[in-house]
Amino acid sequence: MITYDEAIHRVIDTVKVLPPVEETIENALGRVLAAPVRARWAMPPVDNSAMDGFALKGTGLTAGSELRVVGFVPAGRPFTQAISEGEAVRIMTGAPIPAGCDTVVPMEEAEVEDDRIHLSKTPGPGQHIRRRGEEFEEGEPLLSPGTPLYAGEIALLATAGISTVQVYPRPRVALLATGDELVELGAPPGPGQIINSNTYLLAARLREEGCHVLPLGIARDEQRDLGDKIAAGLRLDVLITTGGVSVGDRDLVQDALGQHGFSPIFWKVKIKPGKPVLFGTAGKTAVFGLPGNPASSASTFELFVRPALRRMAGFRDPLPPRLKVTLSTAIDGGEKRQRFLWGTLHEDQGSYHFNPSSRQSSGQNRSLQGAQALLPVPAESPAIAAGTTVEVLLLRLPPGQSLQETVPQQSEP
Ligand code: AMP
Ligand code: MG
Repeated sequence: MITYDEAIHRVIDTVKVLPPVEETIENALGRVLAAPVRARWAMPPVDNSAMDGFALKGTGLTAGSELRVVGFVPAGRPFTQAISEGEAVRIMTGAPIPAGCDTVVPMEEAEVEDDRIHLSKTPGPGQHIRRRGEEFEEGEPLLSPGTPLYAGEIALLATAGISTVQVYPRPRVALLATGDELVELGAPPGPGQIINSNTYLLAARLREEGCHVLPLGIARDEQRDLGDKIAAGLRLDVLITTGGVSVGDRDLVQDALGQHGFSPIFWKVKIKPGKPVLFGTAGKTAVFGLPGNPASSASTFELFVRPALRRMAGFRDPLPPRLKVTLSTAIDGGEKRQRFLWGTLHEDQGSYHFNPSSRQSSGQNRSLQGAQALLPVPAESPAIAAGTTVEVLLLRLPPGQSLQETVPQQSEP
């Protein structure tokens, strides 16, 4: 049986970055840039004031100098009148600096008396002016391929006149639950039946990852129904099935995939939970057969599927982000497979602590409740004492963000 490290490298080597598409910058949120972007114009387009105040020629002025205010220049309107020595123009933040002026005195450093001002401080020559092109010059490279586009990048693109960009598209993912015991949420389950919760978990995670999701419902444990639904899923970039990949009599997913051009790359990985995970391709579609147990399908999604999706979407480092943390409670050793334990993180005096969930059963969704990270515990590891520094795989929040639950205070009526 292969290890997780081997298996994840096979996944990353197999899946390919999707061909780029053109998107409006609004729709490019969370996508990765596929082509370099250059500024269409200089920013700022002209020298302009960084303060509300007075534009003037600064040479020779000191605290106490008196000037006559000869005009007013708001943002967005050029000032055409010539300025002479001893004169000033009232100027607003962002307004172009009038010809002949080289300094801005902030409102707070001038006393106004009728049409005159007295400077309360000696102005530094050239102060409070934002220079043409100081943010970027026309044609300057702004963002390089591989950059993920978040709010700051999107604002920068807008400033530079870029309305559409080449990005790697959102992966299109089909989700198929399998199992005769499953029913959809709605009517109460009959005897022995349970709700198909895996599709809810995976659809939610896929949406969080910015994917297009196509839920294909539940396939019965029989070849024809499985085959029809698998065929529909193979039209997308990724097909995820859950259940039916173990060694039970009704575990028919691999056979059914085989009828539709599937080539397996691995089946079974030395991990707990999630051992029966299946991965391969059918044409251009990457196929993941996740185990049916809720917490197993959840952890194999994080360990195998999410990295594949991030690779397809052009992220440079598709693997889960890691964080060094202090273990809050001891962990047993002696397990033959590499374990991945669910847990929560909390911050204490600038460092993070990982608290393994008391429920780790692969059969329960409750094991996932509130989980923010997975702790990999090596195969054959001895017990690990509380207080040990360990490295976790982050699921929810990037480092630096508050990980503590905050309850909003009820305001007094
Ligand atoms: P299987 O891998 O098909 O043998 O399923 C393993 C366990 O996971 C069984 O107890 C199933 O009832 C349960 N299971 C399978 N699929 C789902 C699903 N979509 N939602 C919730 N539980 C499931
Ligand atoms: Mg089943």
